[in-house]
Amino acid sequence: MINPAELDVLRTALEKLQTGFADLPRFESTFDADAVSEVMQQVAVRMQDNYPYYHPLYAGQMLKPPHPVARIAYALSLWINPNNHALDGGRASSALEKECITELGNMFGWDAPLGHLTGGGTMANLEALWIARRLQPGKRIVASDQSHYTHKRICEVLGIPFTAVRCTPAGHMDLSHLDELLDHGDVGTVVATIGTTGFGVLDPLPDILERTGQSGIRVHADAAYGGYFMLASKLDENARAVFDRMSDVDSIVIDPHKHGLQPYGCGCVLFRDPTEGRYYKHDSPFTYFSSDELHLGEISLECSRPGASAVALWATHRLLPPVKGGDFARDLDCSLQAGREFWSRLDASPSFRPLMRPELDIVVYAVDSPDTATASARARELFQLAAKDNLHLALIELPTDMLRAYVPEIRATTDTVTCLRSVLMKPEHEEWLEPIMSILESGVSRLTESTAPASR
Ligand SMILES: *Cc1c(COP(=O)(O)O)cnc(C)c1O
Repeated sequence: MINPAELDVLRTALEKLQTGFADLPRFESTFDADAVSEVMQQVAVRMQDNYPYYHPLYAGQMLKPPHPVARIAYALSLWINPNNHALDGGRASSALEKECITELGNMFGWDAPLGHLTGGGTMANLEALWIARRLQPGKRIVASDQSHYTHKRICEVLGIPFTAVRCTPAGHMDLSHLDELLDHGDVGTVVATIGTTGFGVLDPLPDILERTGQSGIRVHADAAYGGYFMLASKLDENARAVFDRMSDVDSIVIDPHKHGLQPYGCGCVLFRDPTEGRYYKHDSPFTYFSSDELHLGEISLECSRPGASAVALWATHRLLPPVKGGDFARDLDCSLQAGREFWSRLDASPSFRPLMRPELDIVVYAVDSPDTATASARARELFQLAAKDNLHLALIELPTDMLRAYVPEIRATTDTVTCLRSVLMKPEHEEWLEPIMSILESGVSRLTESTAPASR
C-alpha cells in the first residue's frame, strides 16, 4: 500500500518548492510533532475501517486509486493551498487548470473549449444544465432512466421540467420513446449518458444527434464515468461509433476522479462554444480582478475551489498524457478486456447469469436461481460471503424485466431483483480474474440451505 519512495519524492519536491520563496524573511510556525503524531495514530486506526479500495480484490463500486503522481502533486500543493477561484488566490494552479482543460477538450476533438474543474460530476452537470436552461428557457430536459439520478434532482433545483426516457433491456435510451417526447416540441436538451453508472453502457449518440441535428435542441454528454474511454483502442464497433461523435455535442462532463486517476474532488465541465461563458457573468464586489486574463471564478458557479485538484491533474497529464496510444490509454484497454473476460467466465459458469455484455468495464450478474426472490437473497448472501474472503462486490437493484431479458426462464416473483455488480477499473483486474472467480464459485457452494440451489 505504501511505497516509501513516494514520500521521498514528495520531500524532494517540497524542498524544491521552498527554494522559490527563499528571499522571504524567516518566520517559524510551531509544530508539535508528538501531539500531531498522537492524533495521527488515532486517525490511522479510524481509517482502517474501510474497504481496501486500492486492491484488485475490491471489485465493487466505481473506485480507482489515484496515481501516486496525483497524490504527491496534490499533497505538495497543500503547502501553498491555492484557491482556483481567482488568479490572486491561485496563479500557478489556475494556469495549470487551463492547460488541463485544453488537454481534456483536445481528447474530444475540441481545440479551444470553455471549461473548468469542479468538485465532481454532479456539480459539472449542474453547470451544463444551467447553461442549457439559459439558452433554452422554459424548455424540457430529457435523460434516460438509467442516467445518473442527480439529473432529475438538478432539474428540480434549476426549476427545469424533466422527463426520463425509457431504456431498452440493454440499458440504452429507447429511441422510439425519445421520438415521442421530441414530437411534443418542448424539449430543449437531451442528455446522452456516455457510460451509465449502473452498467457502463452508452446511449446511442449518433441516433440522438441525427434527431436533434437541425432543430437547435442541445445535446449534453454526461461522460462522467465513460469519457476517458474515448482514448481506448479496443472498443467494440458500436462504442467506437458513439465516441466518434463526441465532438458534435454541446457540452461534456467528465470526471477525472473516476477513470482519470485523481483523488476525489475533481470533475470537469466543457462547452464546445466558448462564448457560452457569458452566462456566468456576475458582479461580486470582492472578486478581485488583478489582470485582464480570464480568471476561472468568472466561469464557474462555485467560488472557492481547490487549486490542488488542478495541480494533481496537470502532473498526471505530464506523466501519462491523455492521448490515444499512450500508457494511460493502454490501461483503459486492460479494463475493457477485464470486463469482457469476466463476463465470459461468468457466462461459462453454471452458477451465474451475466446480463448485457459490457460495453466498458462494468459487469452486472445474477446468481442462477429459479425465481427472482431467490436470486435477490442469493446475491445478498454471496456479497457477504465473498467479503469474508476479501473479495468486495457491489449490489444493484434492477427492474425484474431487465433480468428477464437475459434470463427468460426465471420466475418473476418480485418487481425488482438484486444483482451483483463489479466495476473493473483497475488495470490489474484483468490478471486477478482467476482468484475473483474462484472466490465467487466457492461462495456459491457455501450459500445457506434456504437459498442454496436445490439441484446442487
Ligand atoms: C458518477 C457519475 C455522476 C456523478 O458524479 P460525481 O462525481 O459522483 O458527483 C454523474 N453522471 C454519471 C454518468 C456518473 O457515473
